[in-house]
Amino acid sequence: MKRIPVAQPVLGERERENVLAALADGAISGFYGAWLGRFEDEFAAYCGCAHGVAVSSGTAALHVALAALGITRGDEVLVPTLTNMATFFAVHYTGATPVPIDVEPDTGNLDPLLLDARVTPRTRAILVVHLFGQPVDMDAVAAVARRHGLAVVEDCAEAHGAEYRGRRVGGLGTIGCFSFYANKVITTGEGGMCTTNDAELAARMRSLKSLAFGRDNKFMHSDIGFNYRMTNLQAAIGSAQFGQIDQILAMKRAIARRYGELLGGSPDLQLPVEREHTRNVYWMYHVLLSGPAAGARSTIMARLAEDGIETRETFVPYHLQEHLPLPPGVGRDDCPVASGIARRGFYLPSGPVLAAGDMEFVAARLLQALASL
Ligand SMILES: *Cc1c(COP(=O)(O)O)cnc(C)c1O
Repeated sequence: MKRIPVAQPVLGERERENVLAALADGAISGFYGAWLGRFEDEFAAYCGCAHGVAVSSGTAALHVALAALGITRGDEVLVPTLTNMATFFAVHYTGATPVPIDVEPDTGNLDPLLLDARVTPRTRAILVVHLFGQPVDMDAVAAVARRHGLAVVEDCAEAHGAEYRGRRVGGLGTIGCFSFYANKVITTGEGGMCTTNDAELAARMRSLKSLAFGRDNKFMHSDIGFNYRMTNLQAAIGSAQFGQIDQILAMKRAIARRYGELLGGSPDLQLPVEREHTRNVYWMYHVLLSGPAAGARSTIMARLAEDGIETRETFVPYHLQEHLPLPPGVGRDDCPVASGIARRGFYLPSGPVLAAGDMEFVAARLLQALASL
């Protein structure tokens, strides 16, 4: 039986050539090699930013961004509860308290209307997540941030190339954080990057990600640093991937359009939205079961698995994590919208090389499974 995976990297001849060129130079570490600077410069410019700091993962990008902002024990950071838990872990690494915020019912993104009520004298930043490729309502977030003097960090791990009012994510807040894990829009296998227009923050992140070596005496360290360096070999792959980003995004959007045509008529499904003034890159095509089908996710996913169709449940939101600490005053019932999405949602195969026939097969089997409930 043919298997249709949820994601598949598009690795071509160019990736191979770049890696071999990097190997031939002997520049394989995270300290040396032309590919690192090149990948940082081209990707940051793409995001409308003057500075890019390549790191070893998206999680590392988030941690180094928060650390560079000076966020530490006693501080609070507002975070949408529905996200990859790496977003929350990064806040915990700094010693600060992540405060989960509920999300919008259609996008699954942080609901800006809920932010004001959660701001305290300890709040330092809003960490937004452009979930599944749909940009957050950044004007509304920026208004809250301005009112309270907060930094805005963007978790762009799922949204490379997504746009809000004609500007790409990563350059819409204080710092943007990207992941280049194997299933992301573009990949370096493992990897990440911070983007910013603030030269001082960029310098601090560059220092922190590489053990905060001293300037005059290298071994008189300027801070407690991390080794979050991306290697030159990874950057060589990243640069090749960056060369494909327009085609990959076009394929992602074409997949979303086709799924929309095939599934749009079903009363049992709530499909992803593209808000006005935004460009959704549909990292994953995420659907919600609605009406009588709402409780049948495991049945539907099992049916699809029998046909070789891989799907994945929505993230478990932070406020429902059984082994992670909730801040005082936040309960398991506090984010009902996210709880509902987390129960009803899953994503369909969304790899950019998905064949037209595969999409038709997935849609037909999904509609069949829904009809047989
Ligand atoms: C993938 C992802 C991360 C973590 O990135 P890694 O490279 O796996 O560390 C963080 N946030 C979101 C929203 C993600 O999807």
